[in-house]
Amino acid sequence: MNAFEPLVDSFGRVHTNLRISVTDRCNIRCFYCMSDDHVDFKPREEILSYEEIERFAGVVARMGVNKVRLTGGEPLVRSDLARLVARLTAIDGIDDVALTTNGILLAEQAAVLKEAGLRRVNISLDALSEATFRRIARRDGLDRVLSGIEAARQVGFEKIRLNAVAIRGITEDEVLPLARFARERSLELRFIEYMPLDADGAWQGDHVLTGEAIRGLLAAEFGPLEATVRDDPAQPAADFAYADGQGRVGFIDPVSQPFCGDCNRLRITADGKVRNCLFSLTEWDARGLLRRSENGGKIDADIATLVRDCVAAKKPGHGIDDEGFIRPERAMYQIGG
Ligand code: SAM
Ligand code: SF4
Repeated sequence: MNAFEPLVDSFGRVHTNLRISVTDRCNIRCFYCMSDDHVDFKPREEILSYEEIERFAGVVARMGVNKVRLTGGEPLVRSDLARLVARLTAIDGIDDVALTTNGILLAEQAAVLKEAGLRRVNISLDALSEATFRRIARRDGLDRVLSGIEAARQVGFEKIRLNAVAIRGITEDEVLPLARFARERSLELRFIEYMPLDADGAWQGDHVLTGEAIRGLLAAEFGPLEATVRDDPAQPAADFAYADGQGRVGFIDPVSQPFCGDCNRLRITADGKVRNCLFSLTEWDARGLLRRSENGGKIDADIATLVRDCVAAKKPGHGIDDEGFIRPERAMYQIGG
């Protein structure tokens, strides 16, 4: 078998989408992701260099991966991220490089990222009220996020999307302001259900503000939402059009409506561990291979085999609802959302 054949798992899912975490560090402390203090960051020497990330991406691109998203931790705290973007966009076969960011450092970096070839940006914005932002992020920064969104609009990325994690008892009052904010600026907004990946292990099922509940709030204000046809079955969001034709709103409902059956995503953590799922309990160590000092072709083939083994072991679903569900040891910021 050719080591670089497409990445098909045992359920026939073809993996073409790679999430790369470039750091586990962050400039805020969202409670659904990190602890407030005493955060256990990996030492710098354990974090993949841009050269190592580029090499890994080159190998999986040969196996059919064509989309890459940079995430973290907060990717913009890593120095000169645009250099990595430029390297990744130059890889044969990769035709889309995107970024997920909390937006705090985006105003400073939007232009240089766009120049480096970044096409799409997801900006996380859970709240438009300062108090709720602070309650979630446990740091100030809303103004900077809003400036980051403005800067992204100014430089003209192909697509800017706002991601809002929805938490019962905390963000209900943010739903309509966020929807209006996005509609007024022709930005796509996506609500994401809170998943059990918080470092404090405090998640409980009744903390999830479901997509269905949010659709109810939106419909009461803007009229009935109309489900749109999914262009790409692997995209996790269900999109709905507003009755007045002014834009769309999306829902990523991993808890209430898992979409694992069409998942095409593969992840590599900042410290070089390959994962087949956010909720995977196993990781495959690519860093060891990337740092081996022998024949380059042999290393690439070994990386390809490791990634194939990882994909082959992918389970049919995340199992959050299963009786024996075990949370992964690492939290969202350590995995890469
Ligand atoms: N720091 C960047 C940011 O916040 O956009 C990128 C990394 S963050 C881990 C990626 C996305 O995961 C963000 O949209 C964040 O809101 C979301 N996220 C983090 N923890 C989550 C959780 N427990 N459940 C659902 N989404 C979560
Ligand atoms: Fe940082 Fe993003 Fe996690 Fe919030 S969700 S703490 S911004 S990595």
